[in-house]
Amino acid sequence: MTDCLFCRIGAGEIPSDKVYEDDEVLAFRDINPRAPVHILIIPKKHVATLNDFEDADQAIAGRLLLASRQIASDEGIDGDGYRLVVNCNENGGQDVFHVHLHLLGGRRMTWPPG
Ligand code: 5GP
Ligand code: ZN
Repeated sequence: MTDCLFCRIGAGEIPSDKVYEDDEVLAFRDINPRAPVHILIIPKKHVATLNDFEDADQAIAGRLLLASRQIASDEGIDGDGYRLVVNCNENGGQDVFHVHLHLLGGRRMTWPPG
């Protein structure tokens, strides 16, 4: 989708600080980090929200989680811990409508989230 920010990042049309890439998944640092480590993990395929995943996307949904685990390890935050967040639609605070996981770490998170 040419009008989607994260599709454009995935296509290399908009620069990003990439930390991980495979055939189906891309991860890059958030432009406005909310923690010392703040990485966005996206499917290369355009999926607007978590609601839009279909049963056929089971493998890609799993790949997003496994990539998150790998990146947490690469960033050295797996032992201390981290948080994965998916914002969905208005009440979830989603601003970019290409599904993404926020990987947040490097500091103690508060609970409940705001
Ligand atoms: P959402 O609110 O949709 O869950 O999260 C969108 C995230 O994308 C925000 O944390 C925001 O800082 C990040 N973001 C927005 N535009 C860009 C961009 O152009 N590059 C990068 N790397 N992150 C972005
Ligand atoms: Zn997209």
